Amino acid sequence: MTATAPITQDMLTIPRKAPEGLPNLVGMTRDAMREALIAAGTPEKQAKMRVGQIWQWIYHWGVRDFAQMTNLAKDYRAMLAEKFVISVPEVVTRQVSEDGTRKYLVRIAGGHEVEIVYIPEEDRGTLCVSSQVGCTLTCSFCHTGTQKLVRNLTAGEIIGQVMVARDDLDEWPIPGAPKNETRLLSNIVLMGMGEPLYNFENVRDAMKIAMDPHGIQLSRRRITLSTSGVVPEISRTAEEIGCQLAISFHATTDEVRDKLVPINKRWNIAELVEALRSYPKVSNSERITFEYVMLDGVNDSDDDARRLIKLIDGIPAKINLIPFNEWPGAPYKRSSNNRIRRFADIIYKAGYASPIRTPRGEDIMAACGQLKSETERGRKTKAQIAAETGL
Ligand code: SF4
Repeated sequence: MTATAPITQDMLTIPRKAPEGLPNLVGMTRDAMREALIAAGTPEKQAKMRVGQIWQWIYHWGVRDFAQMTNLAKDYRAMLAEKFVISVPEVVTRQVSEDGTRKYLVRIAGGHEVEIVYIPEEDRGTLCVSSQVGCTLTCSFCHTGTQKLVRNLTAGEIIGQVMVARDDLDEWPIPGAPKNETRLLSNIVLMGMGEPLYNFENVRDAMKIAMDPHGIQLSRRRITLSTSGVVPEISRTAEEIGCQLAISFHATTDEVRDKLVPINKRWNIAELVEALRSYPKVSNSERITFEYVMLDGVNDSDDDARRLIKLIDGIPAKINLIPFNEWPGAPYKRSSNNRIRRFADIIYKAGYASPIRTPRGEDIMAACGQLKSETERGRKTKAQIAAETGL
C-alpha cells in the first residue's frame, strides 16, 4: 500500500491473514484460534485443548517453531506448520540510549515500519507500544502527528511488539529453570505511534493476550492506554480491556487545546471531562492519569495550573508533567525547569500527585512525542514532498 492510496475503511481493519499467505496465530483471540484449528482439520472435541497447548507454547515459552511443541503429536505439528505461521514484526534497527532506553524500529506486513521504546527502571521496565502506522490525529507537539495515518496495526502486530521486546530482553522462561520473579518488561503503555482508540478492537485483543493468565500474564493494572480524547470509546476501555487510562490533556482552555490536540474540536474539554467523571473504573486506587506536556509560554502559566485543578476537581487523578522533547522542526520549546517545578508545586499543593517525567532516550529520539518512522517519510512521492516543502 503506497502512501498515495486513499485510506478506505477495509484498509483500516486489516484481516489477521498475513498478506504473504498463511494465517498468523499471533494476535488471534482464543476463539478465533479454535475456529482456525477446526477449519484446518482439528476435531472439534479437541480444539479447545489444542488452543490451550499452542497458546502456552507461543505466549508462555515464546516458541516460534511448531516442531518444538513437544506435547503435540508430530503429524499434528506438521499440519500446523503447513497451515499457519507464528510471525512477529521484524526488527530493522535497535538503538540503545546512554540511559539504557532501547528503541526498536520494526517492519510489519506491507513493508511499513513502526517504533517501539523500552524504558528500563531498577527492578522493572516499561514498553511503549504503537497502535498505528503514523496517526489519525495531528497533535502539534508530537512528531508522530506529522506523519499521515497509513494504517492500523493488527492485534498480531501490536502483541508482536511485546514479543519482540521480550526476545531482546531474554525474558522467556526456560523449561526446568527456576522461575525468575523479576520481570524486565513489567508494564505496557499504549503511548507509542497512533491513537489506540481509533484501532480499538485490535488494541483490545492484543492487550487481552498480554493479560491472559496462561501466557504473558501481565496484570491489567500494569497496562495503560493513553488517548487524546476519543470520547465515545473511552468507557469501552474500562468495560472491554479493564486497563489503566491516561489522557493526553495538555491544555486548560479549548482555544489552546484545539491547537495542541485538534480532536478537541470534535469533543471539547467539557465533553472529555464529563466522560472521565463517569469512567466505569475510576477510583482512588485506579486514578486516571492526565498527561500534560510543558510548552514554554503556551500552557505552563500559574493560571493554567489553577484551571487544570478546577477542571478535574472530583476525579481521582494524577497529573504527569512531561517536559517537552524537541524534534526537528518542532514549533515549541520546553518550559524552563523552574517553571515546571512551580507548575508541579501548585498542583501538588492542591492534593494531586504531579510527578515530572524524566525524559528518557533523548539521544536516540526515543522520548515521548519523538517517534516517527523516517522510512514512511521515504515512501512519499516526489510530488508529495514537493507539495509539502514547495521545493
Ligand atoms: S499525541 Fe498521540 S494521538 Fe496525538 S498525534 Fe501523537 S500519536 Fe497521534
